[in-house]
Amino acid sequence: MTPRSLPLLGSVLVALLLAPASTRAFSLFPELSSGSPQAVLAQAARWSSVTGLDGGIQVGIAPGVAAALQVDGDALADVEQAILDGIEAWASPVLQFDVQLDAAGTVEGPELGFEIDLFAVSDSHPLFVANPQAFTGLAVPAVDFFASRPLTNGQASSGYGITGADLYLNIDNFEFLAPLGASRLQVLTRVVIHELGHALGLGHPNETTSYDTDLDPFNAMPIDPADPFAGLIVSPNIDVTTVMSNEPCGPNPTAPCPAAFFTSLGPDELGGRAVLYPVPEPTTGMLVALGLLAGAQRPRRRSTSRRRPSTTARVRDCQPIRETHSGSAPPGDPA
Ligand SMILES: [Zn+2]
Repeated sequence: MTPRSLPLLGSVLVALLLAPASTRAFSLFPELSSGSPQAVLAQAARWSSVTGLDGGIQVGIAPGVAAALQVDGDALADVEQAILDGIEAWASPVLQFDVQLDAAGTVEGPELGFEIDLFAVSDSHPLFVANPQAFTGLAVPAVDFFASRPLTNGQASSGYGITGADLYLNIDNFEFLAPLGASRLQVLTRVVIHELGHALGLGHPNETTSYDTDLDPFNAMPIDPADPFAGLIVSPNIDVTTVMSNEPCGPNPTAPCPAAFFTSLGPDELGGRAVLYPVPEPTTGMLVALGLLAGAQRPRRRSTSRRRPSTTARVRDCQPIRETHSGSAPPGDPA
């Protein structure tokens, strides 16, 4: 199978209305496969030790990002911390991040610059012009197909690997949130969690196929790291308030709701992370063997480097999409 890339867009609409709460489930981004939940989840796009997970995913925060999001009364360090908190929210023993603030090597293009680049841009940036529904953030991951790619539990399967991603924050719309004062930084953390979630392979549970281990709205989602796809079913129940929802306060919000200020992973995100990035037991020895523990620093990506061989076929899909994630597989991709 010829590897291919599929940059897709993700966005979040933040702030605003009362939220109907209901159930817990997670979704995939992009949605590329069809079939049983187990088949889809096994092929789902994720980072692996062959695409940057070893030693921690390198995240470059472009120069001036925190300053661009600063409003009167903010300490620059507080803005930086809000961003870092959003990144670290996803960390686990197998999912770690090597973050550089004011990173000169960041470059737009999901396979350029750092493994994940974070930018703050104005409303006039072409991505936000093309995706006006992306109020405060956008994510653009690139995905290749691998005949075999390692999973974090030591197993391997064919499937999609995320090879790079760009995250964008909309400066103008964070200014719009300035009246929220310091709590605005909680919104910033939530948006970073949300967009990074896309870059890690998770979608909007309120928009796309959602997976759960049962239909119970509020119980935990137990995932066996040795068999992480077992017992997962398609759930018809939706939690619009969870961090990966793009309508945390409902479809037509007029005021902030508590969900806009979530600064940690909810059960949906914890379940999705456990499926895509299972933590093996016992951890330490296996993690060292898999090279997943951060510590041995790899060279940072430079502005012109590419992660994949230049022969990689790249299917651009930059049409404006409203994160419907309707992502049918490109022709020729395995179902
Ligand atoms: Zn989104």
